[in-house]
Amino acid sequence: MRTHVITLGCQMNEYDTLTIRSELVAGGHDLVDHPSDAELILLNTCAVRGKPVEKVVSLLGGLRRERRAGRDVAIGLMGCLAQLDEGRDLADKFGVDLLVGPGAITEIVPAIEALERGRESRRRRARVDRLAFRADLVDHLTPPPPRGTLTAYLTIMRGCDHHCTYCIVPQTRGPEVSRPLAAIVHEAEAMRAQGVEEVFLLGQNVNSYGRDDASLPSFAGLLRTVAEIGFPRVKFTTSHPMNFTSDVIDAIAGTPNVCDYVHLPVQSGSDRVLRRMAREYRRERYLEIVRELRVKVPDVVLSTDIIVGFPGETEEDFAQTLSLYDEARFDAAYMFAYSARPGTPAHARFADQPREVKSERLGRLVERQKHWSLEGNRRFEGREVRVLVKEIGRDGAHAVGHSDQHHTVLVPAAQVRRMGLHAVRVEHATPHALYGSVVGATSVGVALPLAS
Ligand code: SAM
Ligand code: SF4
Repeated sequence: MRTHVITLGCQMNEYDTLTIRSELVAGGHDLVDHPSDAELILLNTCAVRGKPVEKVVSLLGGLRRERRAGRDVAIGLMGCLAQLDEGRDLADKFGVDLLVGPGAITEIVPAIEALERGRESRRRRARVDRLAFRADLVDHLTPPPPRGTLTAYLTIMRGCDHHCTYCIVPQTRGPEVSRPLAAIVHEAEAMRAQGVEEVFLLGQNVNSYGRDDASLPSFAGLLRTVAEIGFPRVKFTTSHPMNFTSDVIDAIAGTPNVCDYVHLPVQSGSDRVLRRMAREYRRERYLEIVRELRVKVPDVVLSTDIIVGFPGETEEDFAQTLSLYDEARFDAAYMFAYSARPGTPAHARFADQPREVKSERLGRLVERQKHWSLEGNRRFEGREVRVLVKEIGRDGAHAVGHSDQHHTVLVPAAQVRRMGLHAVRVEHATPHALYGSVVGATSVGVALPLAS
């Protein structure tokens, strides 16, 4: 079946899309770049906040209109939304043909084939929606990306054992399961053999790796093992403050190709709010980790996730978040207004705050973040950083890549002959990016189509 996949949400979904795409190709199906050429459109969905769900509803509405106008196209819903009652209801409402939860993605190809066989009696829905396939999934090997891919994601664990009261993920992705070490090493070696320069280890809480299975190494041990495979860069996300122990910090500090970049969501600076969120650490413990990181890894770039306007958050609580900002000096942050998600404990127990309160606080936080992002980026002015240049920017004038510390870095496109690692002298910093000049290529790289 000619299939087009639309991916919404986090890197876990992007990784799952890669798995599905390679399964489809191996199963003899064509992938098409444009939705209008497809016989099947797969929506890989996110359910963490209301906005991505609204996006899915709008895509489904558009497809329903096309069908009513006579187009014969099958629709598949996968990802977190597909695992929830909310997703089933939408599937019923919009006549979705395939409903596949995130634990069952390796069952998609047989489900598509069943759908194809039953095509004459269309709208026979194939539902593959339980987490029952998890054991297969963690062992499942995703084929390596095509040659020329510079950055690749590698899932090291699935699911989440935490129960943050605002979050739907434990329900959509089930409990934590670490992937076997052999599967991770196999995928990593295959990626490196294809020329991948930067591997991103993925999981909801990567630093819990191995805690569910005594035969596995700790996350620090896994980091060292993957680093030995020889990638110039190893990055990882997301970390959880709960098990962000000194051995992880030591592994970052002591392993040159493990990058000095840590994404460590704090969610709030107020202990009262952290308690209501059921986050298992308190403000002081979080700041202790930040201090240890900054001492042992002086160039570390630290980013975070924050939720503002959580139910019951007072002005005093919010002031605590602002003051934590001034102590932690985050280089970057993903800042969200609390979004009440049906099925979560917070939705059941607490009343939501008025929208204006949330957006006003979000606005203030964004301004504070801009200040600290600029301060953080200015630390790198005049210095040389290593940049993995991956593409020509939309303006055509700049080539764009990421530093070892994960800054977005722009250099004049005319200075770049090949994609890959370059040494760059940073000339100017903004809150969102570093601007500089290439002083040398540090890897063989890949031919860059647009630079001449
Ligand atoms: N496992 C990671 C952790 O604990 O930090 C993050 C995973 S979660 C999918 C990504 C981010 O979405 C969270 O860190 C949180 O800030 C945000 N998030 C989750 N549920 C939310 C909600 N109901 N409203 C607003 N933001 C939410
Ligand atoms: Fe959601 Fe909390 Fe699990 Fe992160 S740790 S995925 S925020 S429940």
